[in-house]
Amino acid sequence: MHNAVLPSKVRLVEVGPRDGLQNEPVFVPAAHKIAFVNRLADAGHSTIEVTAFVTTKYLPQMADAAEVCAGITRKAGVRYTALIPNLVGLSRARDAGVDEVAIFPAATEAFSRRNLNQTVEEALATVADVCREARSSGLPVRAYLSTSFGCPFEGPVAPSRVRDLTARLIDAGIYEVALSDTIGVAHPRLVLDVLEQVTSRVPLTSLALHFHDTRGTALVNVYTGLQAGITRFDASAGGLGGCPYAPGATGNLATEDLVYLLDGLGIESGVQLDRLIEASRPLEPLVGHPLPSRVFRAAQATANQR
Ligand code: MG
Repeated sequence: MHNAVLPSKVRLVEVGPRDGLQNEPVFVPAAHKIAFVNRLADAGHSTIEVTAFVTTKYLPQMADAAEVCAGITRKAGVRYTALIPNLVGLSRARDAGVDEVAIFPAATEAFSRRNLNQTVEEALATVADVCREARSSGLPVRAYLSTSFGCPFEGPVAPSRVRDLTARLIDAGIYEVALSDTIGVAHPRLVLDVLEQVTSRVPLTSLALHFHDTRGTALVNVYTGLQAGITRFDASAGGLGGCPYAPGATGNLATEDLVYLLDGLGIESGVQLDRLIEASRPLEPLVGHPLPSRVFRAAQATANQR
């Protein structure tokens, strides 16, 4: 049987070097981060979020952002991006020569205050300022909309609120909004509810999905997104990551697990699974614990049997 409703090709955004490593208690030295980014590019990734230009006090793991950007080997056709909170971050990211920046407003007031020390409205004003300034230098701006499927402080989030905020982000000049499940509470029914609302105002091609596997639903959420026509997904090599302001949030969806699914479905991602596993492997001794990716673990177990 052939499933004709799924897309034939998707674009992945690899967030491991940033979203993954920023949440590890251990500081991974710049040389290892640089090598990691280079291996991810060699595995076939076309978009890699390399680092974050944020205040070191809040995110000490990313204190070497400029050094990492300067050290990577730029591969043709790969977009190297960085997370930024505001105009200061934009300026630093631009100086470091990134190809794109990503900003991270939230859908709920409590999370916005904790994560950004701004109200939702203030964060939207910052997004507008950043988009205006970035446009003058031709830099695309992506946004993560945190807590799109639930908030650790406020609980459920109305899909109509996510719709309205996503539309305002696109109006402000954001080219792609990653609807982000910060605490890993999404499930297919909720994904469909949110997408139904959001796509009533925003084209599918302006949307990405960013899932966490906290409750084991990340892959089935991706599958639901694929069926709805979404073709952009975020994932983190090895399944590293979480959120420092989201209690109980465990890892991002592992890129290995996502690529295994996509390969099985015959959906092109450009990423080679075996090379991706090799890209993640050196991280394990650096972070000092097993990588949570199921597919990575299975590959390790198989390798150990030989
Ligand atoms: Mg994440």
